[in-house]
Amino acid sequence: MTTLLADTAPPELHIPAAAPPLPPAKTAQTPPATQDWTQRRIIPARYPGRTAATVLGALIIVAVGVSVFGNPRWGWPVFAQWFFTEPVLVGLGRTLLLTAVGTLLGSLLGTVLALARVSGSKLLAGVSWSYIWLFRSVPLIVLLLLLNNLGYLYETISLGVPLTNISFASWSTTTLIGPFAAAVIGLSLNQAAFSSEIIRGGILSVDHGQREAAAALGLPRRRQVFNIILPQAMRSILPAAFNEIINLAKNTSVVYILALPELFYTVQVIYRRNLDVVPLLMVATVWYLIILTALSAVQQRVERRFARGAGAEGKSRSRSIVQHAKASAAPLSWPFARGGAVDIEHVSKSFGEVQVLHDVSLSLPSGSVTAIIGQSGSGKSTLLRLINHLERVDGGLITIDGDLIGYRAQGDLLHELKEPDVLRRRTGVGMVFQSFNLFKHLTVLENIAAAPVWVRGIPRAQAEAQARELLARVGLSDKAEAYPRQLSGGQQQRVAIARALALRPKVLLFDEPTSALDPELVGEVLDVIKELARSGTTLLIVTHEMGFAREVADTVVFMDQGRIVEAGPPEQIFTHPRQPRTAEFLSKVL
Ligand code: ADP
Ligand code: MG
Repeated sequence: MTTLLADTAPPELHIPAAAPPLPPAKTAQTPPATQDWTQRRIIPARYPGRTAATVLGALIIVAVGVSVFGNPRWGWPVFAQWFFTEPVLVGLGRTLLLTAVGTLLGSLLGTVLALARVSGSKLLAGVSWSYIWLFRSVPLIVLLLLLNNLGYLYETISLGVPLTNISFASWSTTTLIGPFAAAVIGLSLNQAAFSSEIIRGGILSVDHGQREAAAALGLPRRRQVFNIILPQAMRSILPAAFNEIINLAKNTSVVYILALPELFYTVQVIYRRNLDVVPLLMVATVWYLIILTALSAVQQRVERRFARGAGAEGKSRSRSIVQHAKASAAPLSWPFARGGAVDIEHVSKSFGEVQVLHDVSLSLPSGSVTAIIGQSGSGKSTLLRLINHLERVDGGLITIDGDLIGYRAQGDLLHELKEPDVLRRRTGVGMVFQSFNLFKHLTVLENIAAAPVWVRGIPRAQAEAQARELLARVGLSDKAEAYPRQLSGGQQQRVAIARALALRPKVLLFDEPTSALDPELVGEVLDVIKELARSGTTLLIVTHEMGFAREVADTVVFMDQGRIVEAGPPEQIFTHPRQPRTAEFLSKVL
């Protein structure tokens, strides 16, 4: 025992491995001549208040225990006699079933309602709002009784064509909707109203940039919602949702009103017969406690699962990275298609009353590098978003390699493309955002592989191998397993560039890629873009880095108040601007 103590230093003493064993406590009282703090003994701080409160707490627990277990009127022998009896267990089973089905149906319907509520359609949002308004207002007990009496209102329920006599099948309402069905329907309808608001809150809590990035990658709507938005929304949905489930588990007890023998109704039936009210109520109470404890345990596990990318869990993963980095050290080239030629012809765009682009025309030849400069609010981002069809043009046309953006030409007619076609064309255009917009719940590797897997259907292993190559290209091989929040801004933006490249776009749009970066990180991102500029892809870069624009761009475009004021080679724009407004702008920023 003594040797054990001598070998193991108490954890709070940070003694270097080479330090001599601890001296006995006696010598520590006389400080050594040198100020070697590691030799001192640590006396933990004392909190008398905390100690007193702990003692008081213990006393209360003992007192409660004695009163609950010492008082024979609680009837613990009767409790023990009934706790595992068949009727109680059958009632418990029904309670669990109602909770499970109510949660499942309620969450499904709630998700649909929440998505309807945030959808673009006014009608859907209105229907969803009305549903929530109605079912949150009607007390659950009233709803249950109404459903149970549905047979009085409608004798039969039939499947047929409304407003005609055509009927394919018909059932008697009372046989179709018995007490159990009424309970399930009532609980689910009620649950859906509340959970839809919780889910909507979660959806709203996800940064708008996440959806925009997903859309820019051409992810189908379903993927945007179920792979990008909802997983991130889960973090704020879960605590509230579990509250709801726990409430539901307890609220199932109101179905006793339908004489449905779930747990609570069962114990009522029993205590009416034997008059052991308290012990039987305790039977129900303890079972509810067990259910809720189990639910809380599940909640913890589920929350941990959806905390991806938000906690410090990346540490353990990042260890495996070094090997991957070595494996992919082979020389690489940018994996590109030939750059696309972009033609912007007489494009105009308004938001409501405000016209933000006026008759903009611009040609970007295949493989060219164009820099757009101009004040904030001059319409630069809007122009990029039009090229990617994240916004729709009001007038004029944009084509890439002759293909219209957003429309299909047929004779004199332009047919608006449906969403899947828009998304497919969008994959030819990569976009890099000012605020990176990496998917926060996915690792770096998953961020890059996402679009190839979800849009192109490339096998995951192959997509990840390509992602590693791209990562090596932007100098981040060792970050493959990291989550975005574990990276610096410059690293995040380099990953975002790799992600935009993963679909091998013909055109790459950069919207102020370095504006959100600390000055010392700007260079690393610009270096990556400079390399890209020699790759043959067509680049369009909105930037405030004038030196960079001058060095890299073939053409510099100056925009002001929604118009292209001047475009030309960098030498001309920066040294001999033709327009006074260009000169004025440059005099401010150079
Ligand atoms: P820049 O990128 O040059 O700073 P933007 O293209 O972002 O300029 O914006 C141009 C103008 O359009 C601004 O006045 C801005 O307020 C307006 N605007 C941009 N997007 C929207 C939108 N979705 N709804 C309404 N107004 C918008
Ligand atoms: Mg902008």
